[in-house]
Formats: sequence, structure tokens, C-alpha cells
Amino acid sequence: MAQIKIEHLRKDFGAFTAVQSSTFTVEDGEFFMLLGPSGCGKTTTLRMMAGLELPSSGRVYIDGEEVGQKPASQRDIAFVFQMFALYPHMNVRRNIAYPLISQGMKRAQVRERVAEVARILGIEAMLDKPVGGLSGGDRQRVALGRAIVREPKAFFMDEPLGALDAEFRERMSEELRALHDRMGATTVYVTHDQLEAMQMGDKIVVMNHGVVEQFGVPQDIYDWPATMFVADFIGAPPMNMLRGHGMLGAGADHVMLGDARLAMPALREGVAGDFALGVRPEHVRLSDSGALRGEVLATEYLGTTQIVTLRTAFGEVKARIASDRRVAMHETAGLDLDARTLSVFDTATGRALRSSANEGVLSHG
Ligand code: ATP
Repeated sequence: MAQIKIEHLRKDFGAFTAVQSSTFTVEDGEFFMLLGPSGCGKTTTLRMMAGLELPSSGRVYIDGEEVGQKPASQRDIAFVFQMFALYPHMNVRRNIAYPLISQGMKRAQVRERVAEVARILGIEAMLDKPVGGLSGGDRQRVALGRAIVREPKAFFMDEPLGALDAEFRERMSEELRALHDRMGATTVYVTHDQLEAMQMGDKIVVMNHGVVEQFGVPQDIYDWPATMFVADFIGAPPMNMLRGHGMLGAGADHVMLGDARLAMPALREGVAGDFALGVRPEHVRLSDSGALRGEVLATEYLGTTQIVTLRTAFGEVKARIASDRRVAMHETAGLDLDARTLSVFDTATGRALRSSANEGVLSHG
């Protein structure tokens, strides 16, 4: 069990900066997600936390101890990678036992620990089978077994489910989370899949171009994105952005888009110039009235809900509404936005403005 803290961690590869100045803390026992698009610096961050990559600057602490000079082998961390390599000439039991045997542990104790791990993973029946004939999921379970048998301080996983097909991926992600809940070991998990991050993580760090955009619990990140990047990256479809221009002072509790007066949580800070009003698709309702109006461009049937795309004078808006609401192509509908859920972004900086609704979240972001 371990708390892992990084402070102003930076990595340059020649003139290219892969990680700019990351600061966050993974609390003891947390399932912690490093999330972002390909190339944003997730793996580099994980490798620096693990001691596999030397930071250009910044610090890494494990349980309060600065570990900058400690190599990976002395940080007591276990890895699970996408390309899980098993020893093909050994059976399942030996593959799992290998880290303990190489530590010189006594035979009887090894047997006991391997049996316990096999029970946790539900693979007792395959212990004496060769690994060659196993399915992808079972191979991944064996790789996990080899990682957990050492009882390390923390697990680092880099897209461990990336090679699996969608159905299996979902099952394994549930298993991983359940395993974590049973063992309670600190886990840092790299993924580019926002759904996986939201489903599995206690906390999420969202990265883009080497920068930490936001850090927090999944619900806060979804409800109150700190930046326009996060608003767009999290959620499918992403948060809608209605574009406006003008002066919004501190304390403003509504915004004018054309003739439409839209109520919102009072702003704690203002903006002068271009801004964007962010609203999640499920917080848009179609109505007969409504000063904000849009023309229906498309509908997408999803079973209990449908996604309706409308063109407004301030940008395209997607509404997630009940699928029994009849919507005609090119009809003009009023749009009601749920005032309590609106975010305002300064489009010059891309940052959300603090408001009475999101202040705590964004100041921790
Ligand atoms: P992916 O999911 O594609 O692996 P990532 O977010 O994990 O993406 P990193 O692997 O951390 O991204 O890479 C971040 C950036 O740093 C990328 O542009 C990558 O090309 C670059 N990079 C990583 N390792 C090196 C290296 N050893 N030398 C030069 N550039 C590197």
C-alpha cells in the first residue's frame, strides 16, 4: 500500500517536452487513472513515477520518501502492460510463482501464495496447464497473477486491456476493479478511453500535450470540466459549446445569446470578449417555447434515448432526449438548458470560469 505524489514533474526529449509540469497525488489504496489522447504524455508520466524514466526535473515521493534516485527495482511496484509477456515454456503455476522463486522464497510458502492468487483470480483449474493454449483473457489473468503474487506497494498498468476485443475488455475491466476492491492496493492505470476511466477510476488525471488539464473524481470532471479540452474529451457526445461575445462580470447569473436570456450559476470571475456556454446533451430539452431556437439537422436513435442535432445561431447543439418524443427533420424547436448545470468558458484561454456551482471543483482542478 502506498501514497504516490509527484511534484512539477517534467520530461524533455531533446527539444520536445513530453510532460510539462505535472503535480498530483495518488492516495493510498486508490484506483487512479491517467487519461488522455495518444501522445499526451501518460506513459512517460507513469514511467517517471515508476523509476523507468529519469525526470528532467521535479520530484516523485512514495509514502513521503523522495525516490528520485531509486531505480524501478527498488520501488516495490508491479507492472501490467498491454503486451503481457509470459514465459511460454512454463505452465501457469510456474509463471505466477516465478517472481517469488527468484526472490528465494521457500517452496511451501510459494505454493501457498500461488494458490491464494489463483483463488482470487478464479484460475485454480488451469494452474498446471501450459500458457501456450490459453485465451487472451486467461493470459491476462496469469499476467495479473504474476504481478499481485509479490504483494507490491502499488500496481502500474499501461493500457492492460488494449489488446482485447470490446466485450472481453468490459468483462476484464470489471474483474480488475473487483480485484482492486478486494486487495485495496494503490493502482495507477493508463488509458486513452474516457469510458474506461470513468467506470473504473476513483480519481482521474486528464492530460493533453504534456499538461495536466484536470485532476479529480469522475463525476466532478464530467459535470464541471476545468477546460474546453476536458469538456470535449469526456462524454459521448461531448459537452455542447454555444458561442457568445461580450462582457460577463463577476456575479453575473445569466447570459444573453441574441434575444435569449439564459440563467446560469452566478460567476465568481468575469470575462470580456469571446466566451462559450457549455451544456451536456442530457441537460438540453426541446420545448415549444424557449427563446433559444434551433433547426433539427439529424436524429440518432439509441433505444431509450435519442440524440437530436440542432443548428442554432450560436453553434450546433446535441440534445439527449427520450426516444418517444417525435422530432421532424428541419423542424424548428425551442431549447431549454438546465440552468444549474451550465459552465462558462473563456475561449481565449479555454479555461472554465469559477461559479457558485463549480467553484470548489475547479479550484482543486
Ligand atoms: P500513447 O497512448 O500513444 O502511448 P502517451 O500519452 O502514453 O501516448 P507518451 O508515450 O508518454 O504518450 O509520449 C508522449 C510524447 O513523447 C509522444 O509525442 C512521444 O512520441 C514522445 N516520446 C516518448 N518517448 C520518447 C523517447 N524516448 N524519445 C523521444 N520522444 C519520446
